Amino acid sequence: MADGPLIRFERVTKRFDTFIAVDDVSLDIAEGEFFTLLGPSGCGKTTLLRMLAGLEMPTEGRVWIDGVDMTTAPPNKRPVNMVFQSYAVFPHLNVADNVAYGLRIDRVPKPERDARVAEALRLVKLEEFAHRKPDQLSGGQRQRVALARALVKRPRVLLLDEPLSALDAKLREAMRSELAAIQDQVGVTFVMVTHDQDEALAMASRCALMNRGTLQQVAPPGDLYEYPANRFVADFIGTINMVEGSLSLDEPDQAAVISPALDVPVWVDHGVTGARAAPVWVGIRPEKITMIPQVADRPAGPAAMPHANVTQGVIVRSAYLGGQTLYEVEIATGTVLKVSQANGARDASPGLPAGAAVWLSWPPGAPVVLVG
Ligand code: ATP
Repeated sequence: MADGPLIRFERVTKRFDTFIAVDDVSLDIAEGEFFTLLGPSGCGKTTLLRMLAGLEMPTEGRVWIDGVDMTTAPPNKRPVNMVFQSYAVFPHLNVADNVAYGLRIDRVPKPERDARVAEALRLVKLEEFAHRKPDQLSGGQRQRVALARALVKRPRVLLLDEPLSALDAKLREAMRSELAAIQDQVGVTFVMVTHDQDEALAMASRCALMNRGTLQQVAPPGDLYEYPANRFVADFIGTINMVEGSLSLDEPDQAAVISPALDVPVWVDHGVTGARAAPVWVGIRPEKITMIPQVADRPAGPAAMPHANVTQGVIVRSAYLGGQTLYEVEIATGTVLKVSQANGARDASPGLPAGAAVWLSWPPGAPVVLVG
C-alpha cells in the first residue's frame, strides 16, 4: 500500500464471550504519525492496540499493516514492537545487554549489534549507563531502556501501552517531551494508549477518543478541544460548561440557543442544523468567558462588553492554580458556571473574593453547539 495508510483497522470488532470490547472500528494511521488512543478505563483502547500487536485476534474485521493483511499473523511476524506499562527489562542483564537482547535472538552479527545498541542508547541518552544493572537506574531511566530495546529492532510501528504510567508526575511530564522528540528523530510510527488526556494531547499528532468500544472522534488534539464531535468528547477533553437547550433561531450565519439553565440566550456566529427548536447541548469553555467585577458606578454593565451573551452572577468559590485561577460563578438561574482567568505577571494576589458580583460575557464564536 505505497500511498495508503501504514495501519488500517477495517470494521474491527472484538468480543469476549458476549461482551463487546471493540465495536466495529475503522481507523487509518499514516506512516510517521504519533497516534494516541485515549479514553476512560475499559473503553477498549488496549484491546485495539493488542490486536495491532497480534496479542488478540479480532472477532470480525481485518487489520492491515503496510498493505498486508495481518489479521491473524502472530506477533513475531508483524513489523511492530511493543513497550509495556511495566518496563519489561531483565534485572540480571546490564543496560547494553538488555538493549542487545532482541538482536542477539535475531542473530544479528556482533559488530552491527554493537553499533545499533550504541545508537539506541544515544537516542535515549543512556550512553553513560550502558554497564549499569536495571536496579541501579531510576524509573525514568528504566523506561528508557525499555524504549531503546524496542527501537533497536527498527520496527515500522512502535506500540506503547501507558508507557509513562509508572512514573511520578514530574518525570512523566519530562518524558512526554522526550518521547515526542525521540519519535521526531527516528520517524517511526508511534501508537500509544493512555487514559491521561494531557499526555495524549501533548504528544499526539492525532488522537482517537474511544468510549464503550467505539471511536467517538479521530482528530488532531486542537480539533478535539475546539470542535468536539459530540457531548462525550466535549465533556471528556478539558473542562466545559455544558447546558441543555433548544435552538430558537438557526440561520446560515447565526443561531441562538435558549436554555432553562441560563438567563440569557446563547448567540453563536454560525448556523447549526437549519432546523429550529431542535434539542441541543451548548458548551462554553471556562477560559472563553470574560469576567469583570461589578462596580457601583456602572450598574448597567460595562460598555466594553457586547450586549449579547452577557449575564451576571456571584462568585461562590475560586481555586488558585498558578498560571490561572478557576472561579465558580452562580448566575440567577442557580447554574454555576466555571470561569478561568489567566494570572498576570507575578501576581500573587488572591483575585476576586467569594461573594463578589461579576459580569460574565463570551463572544459568539466561543460556544460549541452539539445536536442531540
Ligand atoms: P484500561 O485503561 O483500564 O486498561 P482499556 O480501555 O484499555 O482500559 P481494555 O483493556 O481494552 O480497556 O478492555 C476493554 C473491555 O474488555 C474491558 O471491559 C475489559 O474488562 C474487557 N476485556 C479485556 N480483555 C478481556 C479478556 N481477556 N476477557 C474478558 N474481557 C476482557
